[in-house]
Amino acid sequence: MKPVRTRFAPSPTGYLHIGGLRTALYAYFFARQHQGSLVFRIEDTDRERYIPGATEALIRTLDVMGISYDEGPVLDDKGDIAEKGSFGPYIQSKRLDTYKQWAEELLRVGSAYRCFCSAERLETMRREQTLAKRMTKYDRTCLHLSKEESDRRAGAGESYVIRLLVPDGETIFEDVVYGAMKFPNADVDDQVLLKSDGFPTYHLAVVVDDHFMEISHVLRGEDWISSTPKQIMLYAALGWEAPTFAHLPNLLNADRTKLSKRQGDVAVEDYLKRGYLPAALNNFVATLGFNPKSDQEIYSTEELTALFDLSRVNRAGAVVNYEKLDWVNAHYLRHLNIEELARAVHPFSETLDFQNPVLLRALTVERERATTLAELPGRLGPYLEPLDYDPGLLVWRKSTREDAVAQLGRLVEHLSTVADEIFSEVLALENNVQTYLAANQLDRGGVLWPMRVALSGKAQSPSPYELAWVFGKLETLYRLEEARKRLA
Ligand code: GLU
Repeated sequence: MKPVRTRFAPSPTGYLHIGGLRTALYAYFFARQHQGSLVFRIEDTDRERYIPGATEALIRTLDVMGISYDEGPVLDDKGDIAEKGSFGPYIQSKRLDTYKQWAEELLRVGSAYRCFCSAERLETMRREQTLAKRMTKYDRTCLHLSKEESDRRAGAGESYVIRLLVPDGETIFEDVVYGAMKFPNADVDDQVLLKSDGFPTYHLAVVVDDHFMEISHVLRGEDWISSTPKQIMLYAALGWEAPTFAHLPNLLNADRTKLSKRQGDVAVEDYLKRGYLPAALNNFVATLGFNPKSDQEIYSTEELTALFDLSRVNRAGAVVNYEKLDWVNAHYLRHLNIEELARAVHPFSETLDFQNPVLLRALTVERERATTLAELPGRLGPYLEPLDYDPGLLVWRKSTREDAVAQLGRLVEHLSTVADEIFSEVLALENNVQTYLAANQLDRGGVLWPMRVALSGKAQSPSPYELAWVFGKLETLYRLEEARKRLA
């Protein structure tokens, strides 16, 4: 059997679409589980859509997302584009001679022809076809030019494109996800393969590259299904074996329309900026349209690589459920190693110094309640700031100002006698305070409410035990005493 070689071949249009991320992940899982190779290729022959810097951005995003590839463009130490792998170049604009060579070979074998029609003529033709409610496709005017005339006009420097000559009949292929596919060739346009400026179109470039890069499996979005017959015709015309195709269903908005910017972010980079963790995004995106087990939602990349099954990708489009993404991200926030989490929060606030133990403990408490990295700085900042609250907030609704003052005083007295170790564990603190309440027959709200407000300055916050643990004994006693004084 041929070695498995998959590829991820985005166009550098400015960002990585989350549908593209899913394609990249599936190609990665599939290559890895077959001990094969993943090729990364930049399809930049559509110069109108080209965005400078987009290739570098794609390389960086794949790196952040942990999608390692075996061949393709990489960034060197200076941030310039270099390449790894021996099937390159992996950037299509650097392979123009190759495409030209194979376009000419197609001319030679009679599977393609030169077309000299002007843009104006083609536009008029298209308008007429549209008005007559006919399919818009090239009317083959130039197919009828004799070889001599075609050669003469090309030799005289007239501008032309090279078009595929679609043969009669039908094109059949077996898609791993969609099953048997059949297209009448009469519905396929004589596609331009090489433009007048010498650039190939996507169709020619993709076939030449997939062939010479020895790609065994093409995984890509379902939008490319209708292009596949043209590509299969090219393989046949050149006498090359076509790869196995697996088209992946689109990601959908809640209303089942194709995922669009209008209904939410679609760029992976935007999700990262909003504080979603790469691992959470990967987990979420990978399980859209494919879930290995019905009772599990969280998977590591290793698990997904082992469990991924291309033939079980769901044919129906997958609705992107943003609440589920929040849930998955919150899960990752809670389970990440705390030092790693601190490093992940850093880009969102470079002023927070996690060497400070109070801040690290505050992170431990606040991550239980957070959904994204981006919201953590706002939650953590107040732990380091002097408190500013209305002293009236210290009074529990079923209690009085005098009682709050008295309870805070007693609590300070009690906690000053508590051993330092008790403050190093939330549960030990909770047990200690609960025992204190029971032994003195004190009302929970009457003690715990002012304690919590004294520590947080807020009506809503983590529990008083968590807060006391974050601040440690000295600061806790200081805040409680401060509160008592403010109220007294
Ligand atoms: N370059 C195409 C894109 O930007 C990929 C098509 C393919 O994978 O064949 O989506």
